[in-house]
Amino acid sequence: MIAGTIAKITGPVVVAEGMLGARMYDIVRVGDEGLMGEVIRLEGDAATIQVYEDTSGLEVGESVESTEGPLMVELGPGLLTSIYDGVQRPLPIVAEQSGDYIERGTVASALDREKKWSFTPTVAVGDDAGPGTVVGTIPEGGTIIHKVMVPPRVKPSTFKTVAAAGDYTVDDVVATLEDGTEVKLAQRWPVREGRPYINKLDPTTPFTTGMRILDTFFPIALGGNAIIPGGFGTGKTVTQQSLAKWADVDIIVYIGCGERGNEMTEVLTEFPHLDDPRNDAPLMDRTILVANTSNMPVAAREASIYVGATLAEFYRDMGYNVAMMADSTSRWGEALREVSGRLEEMPGEEGYPAYLATRLAAFYERSGRVRPLGAEGDERVGSVTMVGAVSPAGGDMSEPMTQNSLRVTGAFWALDTSLAHRRHFPAISWTKSYTLFLGQVRGWYEANVADDWAEYRDRAMSTLQKETELQEIVQLVGPDALPESEKVILEVARMLREDFLQQFAFDDVDAYCPPKKAYWLIRTIMAFSDAATAALNDGVSLSQIMELPLRDQIAVLKTTPHEEAVARMQELVETIPVDISGIEVY
Ligand code: ADP
Ligand code: MG
Repeated sequence: MIAGTIAKITGPVVVAEGMLGARMYDIVRVGDEGLMGEVIRLEGDAATIQVYEDTSGLEVGESVESTEGPLMVELGPGLLTSIYDGVQRPLPIVAEQSGDYIERGTVASALDREKKWSFTPTVAVGDDAGPGTVVGTIPEGGTIIHKVMVPPRVKPSTFKTVAAAGDYTVDDVVATLEDGTEVKLAQRWPVREGRPYINKLDPTTPFTTGMRILDTFFPIALGGNAIIPGGFGTGKTVTQQSLAKWADVDIIVYIGCGERGNEMTEVLTEFPHLDDPRNDAPLMDRTILVANTSNMPVAAREASIYVGATLAEFYRDMGYNVAMMADSTSRWGEALREVSGRLEEMPGEEGYPAYLATRLAAFYERSGRVRPLGAEGDERVGSVTMVGAVSPAGGDMSEPMTQNSLRVTGAFWALDTSLAHRRHFPAISWTKSYTLFLGQVRGWYEANVADDWAEYRDRAMSTLQKETELQEIVQLVGPDALPESEKVILEVARMLREDFLQQFAFDDVDAYCPPKKAYWLIRTIMAFSDAATAALNDGVSLSQIMELPLRDQIAVLKTTPHEEAVARMQELVETIPVDISGIEVY
């Protein structure tokens, strides 16, 4: 047994002596109460430990005992619908055991040990068995078929026994391999290590969000990653929750790092009541929540994002598309900064450790669309798409978390404080945001939405860009100085902003906009643009055009039910030019 004694305590960081044999990232039990901690530095027989729980009251001389293994998560049926803390302790159960807040040193099993799951084998004795081979299936959470897989790193062999269809607990053995390896419903995995897969695939299918500005202007792919940086109150949480609800994926892993005191409580109370828009079931049926409660110290936030990534990879390995949301990754960055400070490491920019960039890169690297282990037999493809909110202080995007995150992610969905102030929601900036996935997903849009999808997207974006340029002139010389042809651009840009980009997250219809409807909205607005420009050339005035009720006809479209709206827009692109060209010149 590796056990030592506490020599020094500084906040969440403890130094223990006599820890010879301990390894980096081993989980240890600290002090008389057995607080959970992780070894983060080794020097001689001294181990530096970050403690995941409040260390007040802990004293020098108390004992420290190593569990001689890294932080692991338990993976198996029952993860969906669960609410965990940053080290995968189930919050509702923990709360039952220890009252409203987690008692220190609490140990609780991540999965229900008693519950029986209805298992149906998909292999037979003598079949090939290797890492990732699907042994059988279990209905989990109402809508998801859970696949019981042979754990990674098992030597390929054949099945010696396979359990009959029936009800089993997570600890029951449902298959054995020739070499004696047992496959149970649950397996464990070290959180800091990405789960292995056969190979990564090109991300070419869009991660459809239902948010027009994202799907049309800054789309990402399934298996891609994006960050949402934004100051306080700009819409990070609303956007993340909207993605959780509407994104076209099978499984959601939502990591809440608690921006404000009550925000985590909101997530914990609201999420369980959200309905899944795709079926009548609760959204929690295909969701796992990881919540860093405010009484857990910073180090646990660090662990939580790895716990979340591992849970996401597990469902990816079953062949599902998983979206992982982290709100907000800045809290994780702060944890790194605080622990690094306590370790008296050489600080990098703004006190963050010099390894911030590598940690972020390694984390986002865990996203991707992959062929999971064992997929040779069954063509499984799964993905983890990661979306991390970033909360730069004062909205200043030049700070290290934002800058380092944007270097390692494929899309930047920048929230703009001035848009939020003007109540333009979602307050995602169309001038500062970007995506690197456009080239990869464009083919999908052309095949599934319209072959001229990219052309209309580009026209809309360049109109908005032209508006920005014109606004500078207007500020100098006033709007009257602009020629009619440029005033029409301002009108069209206004339609794009108000009738296309603005999208109310809490409207029954507008909360989700299918890509096809988004495309037709732009086409309709562009039909107006073309017809208006042509009429101006014929001598009609802009004010005459604006007297037509077209603006109102376009404005109602986004809250019109999707199919009806698309049919209406297919009509409008025909009637708008007729209406406008019918204006008499005088
Ligand atoms: P943050 O997490 O960045 O601090 P929130 O996501 O809590 O900000 O958003 C703050 C407020 O902005 C919300 O309470 C809501 O009123 C408004 N808001 C943000 N996004 C939208 C949206 N898409 N539709 C409607 N209102 C929004
Ligand atoms: Mg928030």
